[in-house]
Amino acid sequence: MKKLEDYVVSIPDFPEPGIIFRDVTSVLQDADGLNLAIHLLMEKLEGLDFDVIAGAESRGFIFGMPLAYNLHKPFIPVRKKGKLPRETVSASYELEYGTAEIEIHKDAILPGQKVVLIDDLIATGGTSKAMIQLVESLGGIVVKNLFLMELAGLNGRAKLEGYNVDSVIVYD
Ligand code: IMP
Repeated sequence: MKKLEDYVVSIPDFPEPGIIFRDVTSVLQDADGLNLAIHLLMEKLEGLDFDVIAGAESRGFIFGMPLAYNLHKPFIPVRKKGKLPRETVSASYELEYGTAEIEIHKDAILPGQKVVLIDDLIATGGTSKAMIQLVESLGGIVVKNLFLMELAGLNGRAKLEGYNVDSVIVYD
């Protein structure tokens, strides 16, 4: 029986020299890999009391949507600046490779709602920190930050100190 790690292809020196890129598309393009990934993420939410799943564009959509659908929860897309049509709040952050701004619809999360944040991977934690800011600015409560993969060497957890952080695969 293959482990999830076996489906992840690691690409050295992409997108820059010295970076090892962990490619989730190699998981998705195998039906068993995709099934296992969603199954293992679902396990991480077992017994958790929450109202909403929010995912970061674009790979957070890929993994957030099947979880929301299977658990009968709403899915809230957090998108890059300028993509959402209604009134938004936004947050800026530094990426592993540059800077970015993300947005969420103002009415997407109600005060007091318990929110699970999902993305494919946590590196420095900057994206997740910005997502937390968005949710909290609307009065939501982040009950879990869930990832398929974690690059532990970049210490994203330190940036999310005090929050529940959980990953299926942890790379050194
Ligand atoms: P962070 O904000 O530094 O934690 O970076 C996380 C974001 O960068 C996520 O949205 C990832 O999709 C993307 N990312 C960074 N490194 C990798 C990688 O090695 N594989 C896939 N995505 C990555």
